[in-house]
Amino acid sequence: MKKIFLFGNWKMNQSLRATENFAAESAAFFSERPGLKAETEICIFPPFVLIPEAVKNFTNLGVTVGAQNASDHGEGAYTGEVAPSMLKEAGCRYVIVGHSERRHIYGESSELVNKKALNCLTSGLIPVLCVGETLEERDAGRTTDVISDQLRKGVKDFPAGAAYVVAYEPVWAIGTGRAASAEDAEKVCRLIKDSVRVPVLYGGSVKPSNAAELFSRPSIDGGLIGGASLKARDFFAILKNF
Ligand code: PEP
Repeated sequence: MKKIFLFGNWKMNQSLRATENFAAESAAFFSERPGLKAETEICIFPPFVLIPEAVKNFTNLGVTVGAQNASDHGEGAYTGEVAPSMLKEAGCRYVIVGHSERRHIYGESSELVNKKALNCLTSGLIPVLCVGETLEERDAGRTTDVISDQLRKGVKDFPAGAAYVVAYEPVWAIGTGRAASAEDAEKVCRLIKDSVRVPVLYGGSVKPSNAAELFSRPSIDGGLIGGASLKARDFFAILKNF
């Protein structure tokens, strides 16, 4: 059986108390399913300020912690930025780069996303490179071109053998309740996997009712989950059919 990646992107949500509660509920879930740790790679991506609390509460459970963003610079005069070296020191393992909200709300280009990813690699962090087409691009039949372009630019100059993950997140499926069909998601994830041969996750309205179908596809190694990662009950229910 393949290892399932279950990555929870909390976005700008949660609190110290919610982080603690989430960990306590996770512990209860793990005690019901002792085999789960070996079958899954679970990572929570809290807002920056909750990272220390998450590391403190999740590490013993075997749940890793990641950041939702990182600077393309090292330490220095960059007000409001957080360097990958700081995230590494705080206990992060993964960093999301190029999430569609960063690309579309904050105007991040693929070139900037690539710089951030390279900076993460230099600090020993594993980038989770997000790629995805808008509805307009999909309707215009441009999905393959858009994904190939974001992927090529995103991994430019990555050293051979670099550890990273790609998340295919169609923009029209994020937070809309309208997930891609397993067939469509598999097609795009296969395109990605054929090109980069690293774990490929699907993201966009994953929930307990559609996860098993999506994750059973050969090119989908798991999910990057937003809304359904905010409550431990929903998040772990995603694994109920595995
Ligand atoms: C995301 O933000 O990466 C995401 C996939 O969100 P949601 O699961 O809420 O669609």
